[in-house]
Amino acid sequence: MSKKLIIANWKMNFSVADSRRAAVALAARIKKLPKGVEKDLPHVVLCPSFSAIRVVQEAILSVRGRVHVGAQDCFWNGKGAFTGEESPVFLKELGVEYIIVGHSERRMYLGETDEMVGRKIQSFVLEKSLIPILCVGEKKEERASLIRKRVINRQIISAISAIRDVKPKRPFVIAYEPVWAIGTGNVCTVADWVAINLFIQAVLKSQLGTAYTKKWCRILYGGSVSGKNSKDFVSRGVGDGALVGGASLNASDFYTIIRCAV
Ligand code: PEP
Repeated sequence: MSKKLIIANWKMNFSVADSRRAAVALAARIKKLPKGVEKDLPHVVLCPSFSAIRVVQEAILSVRGRVHVGAQDCFWNGKGAFTGEESPVFLKELGVEYIIVGHSERRMYLGETDEMVGRKIQSFVLEKSLIPILCVGEKKEERASLIRKRVINRQIISAISAIRDVKPKRPFVIAYEPVWAIGTGNVCTVADWVAINLFIQAVLKSQLGTAYTKKWCRILYGGSVSGKNSKDFVSRGVGDGALVGGASLNASDFYTIIRCAV
């Protein structure tokens, strides 16, 4: 659990061909690293569109174990009459390990609620053995009204309510993504990130216990992380890594972020 985690959320930006190119380029850079450096690399997860998952898996075969594949979302049920939804069982069958859950864009544009997020976490963690990347974070107006801790507390507690008693021994990832920071170039200060990281740890410890939280939960920052500011968010001592949107579409920016996280 000590390695940092750097996750690329490509959203709906890369076509299948773009995804293949980006994954091939990243694998080539990683393969060129000298042996000693390579072993210190963080755990890297690429989250392409569903349609590009297979080609990305093929493209990273040579760096398997160091680069992993995640999905940007999926439904809670494994099978049935849910037109247009993707199944966690089918994704697992493909070899997908991570799933982003409750991203603010899904909450905003697709009406995803805390209750739906909770059902997904329950399904992925308890039944499907997938690793969720739960996104939480306040909107600009919630921050201005000084209720961000209340919002984050609510988002976390409703998401993990189903696993609280079971405490499955599997990694659980939380990404603190202030909505006002996503895709805007604005980031929170390091002091702010440290404070909210401690707050999230406290919420998790109160729900899941200290030992469990320390062993299984990892807390990432997300929101306009770039090659320039990544040291503040992913260097040792400040959190467990980053969820990266825009900067993950740029090969050298994303590589800088990865190298920063060793
Ligand atoms: C995101 O949407 O998860 C994200 C972190 O985006 P960006 O890095 O572009 O702010």
